[in-house]
Amino acid sequence: MNVAQGIKEPLIYYQQHPESKYMDAVKEGLMALKDVHGYVNGMYGGDENLHGNDPTQGSELCSAVEFMYSFESILPITGDVFFADYLEKIAFNVLPTQVDDNYKTKQYFQQVNQIEITDKSRNFFNDRVGRIVFGTTTGYPCCVTNMHQGFPKFVQNLWYATADNGLAALVYGASKVNAKVANGQEVSFTEETNYPFSDLIKFTYNTKNDNTFPFHLRIPEWCNNPVIKVNGQIQKYNKEKIFILNRKWSENDVVELQLPMNIAFSRWYENSLGIERGPLVYALKLEEDWREVKTEEFDDTFFEVTTPSKWNYGIIENQINADSLKVDISASYSDYPWNLPNAPISIKIKGRQIPFWEKSMNSTGKIPIQSHPYIELYTPVEELELIPYGCTTLRIAQFPVIDNPRNR
Ligand SMILES: [Zn+2]
Repeated sequence: MNVAQGIKEPLIYYQQHPESKYMDAVKEGLMALKDVHGYVNGMYGGDENLHGNDPTQGSELCSAVEFMYSFESILPITGDVFFADYLEKIAFNVLPTQVDDNYKTKQYFQQVNQIEITDKSRNFFNDRVGRIVFGTTTGYPCCVTNMHQGFPKFVQNLWYATADNGLAALVYGASKVNAKVANGQEVSFTEETNYPFSDLIKFTYNTKNDNTFPFHLRIPEWCNNPVIKVNGQIQKYNKEKIFILNRKWSENDVVELQLPMNIAFSRWYENSLGIERGPLVYALKLEEDWREVKTEEFDDTFFEVTTPSKWNYGIIENQINADSLKVDISASYSDYPWNLPNAPISIKIKGRQIPFWEKSMNSTGKIPIQSHPYIELYTPVEELELIPYGCTTLRIAQFPVIDNPRNR
C-alpha cells in the first residue's frame, strides 16, 4: 500500500519543481513494478512485502484504492491519458471483485488466480486474522475504511475543468456535471453509457444558453479507431490522445463517442497468458458457493467462497488470436453488473485441462510452463467461458499456455 500511495510523489513535487525527470520517474517506477511484481490486472504482488509476480500472491484492497487515488492526483497535473487508462483498469477490474455486492464485506488480499477463499494458510503474510476471506473486521482495519473511498473519488474525477476554460471528460462513467466554463458561465452535460461494458458514450449539452468553450475527450491507448460524432456528424480524427471539440454549444447538442474494443493478449509470470478487451481483463468463470462462518477469533461472521467448477485449464497456443474468440455482449445491462449472474459480456476460447496442475497451499500450484504436448493424451479440448474479471470472485486470469495439439 505504501508503494501505491508513494508512486505519485515525484509528480506532486513536480508542481513546485517542474523538471522533466520528475515527470518521467513515475512511469519508470510503474514499469519496474510491472516487470518484477506485475499482474495482468494492473496490480502487483504485495502481500505486506512486495512479493513478485506469481498470480497467487496477494494484493491489498488499500493498494487498489490508493493506486487509484495516485492516478487521480497525477492525471490533472499531467493530462497524460496513460494514467486515465491505468485508473480505469484498477477501478473496473480490481476494485469491484474485492468487495461483496452489498458493499459490506471485503477481502484484505485478493489473488489474480484465486480458486478458493477460505480462512486457511496461503503462501503470503498470514497472522491468522482472515486476510483473504470476505469480512468486515477480518484482515487489518485499514481496508474497511479505504474500501468506501474508491468509487466516490473515482466519480469526483470523471470531469475536470481545463486550463483553456473548458471541460474535460478523461475517465468515463454515467454521470451529470454542472460546471463553469468560458468566462464563468454555468453549463451542464449529461453522460449516458454502459461503459466499460459498452463502447458507446453519449454526452448531451443541457443548458438553455449557448456557450462557446472547448470540450476535451480522452481516447484510450487501447483504442485505435474511435468514432466521434457531434449531432450525428462524424469528426475528423488524427490520432489525438485527447480530442478537443472547440465550438459553440446549444441546448440538446449531442456528442457520441464510440471506442471500439479490441482483444489484447499479454504474457506474464512463467509466460502465462492474459486476455483483455478494451478496459476489461477477462477471467475463467467459476461457479461460487458462499458460506457464512463464525469462529471464536472474530466478533462477527465472515464468508468463505469455494467452487465446484474445474479450474486447471490451459489455453491452446493456436487459439491465441482474436479471430478464434467468440465475444457475446448482452443486450441489456443490470444496475449492478459486478457479479457472476449479471456479467454482461462473455468470451469463449478453447483450452484443455492440465491434470498435473493441482492445488497447493489452498491456491493454484505453480503455473506449468508451456511445452507439454503430451497433455493431449489425457484431456479433450473444451470451450472455456471467460467473463470480466470485475464480475468474478473466483477465477483464473493468467493462464498456462499449451502447445498446439499434434496432427495425428
Ligand atoms: Zn488495507
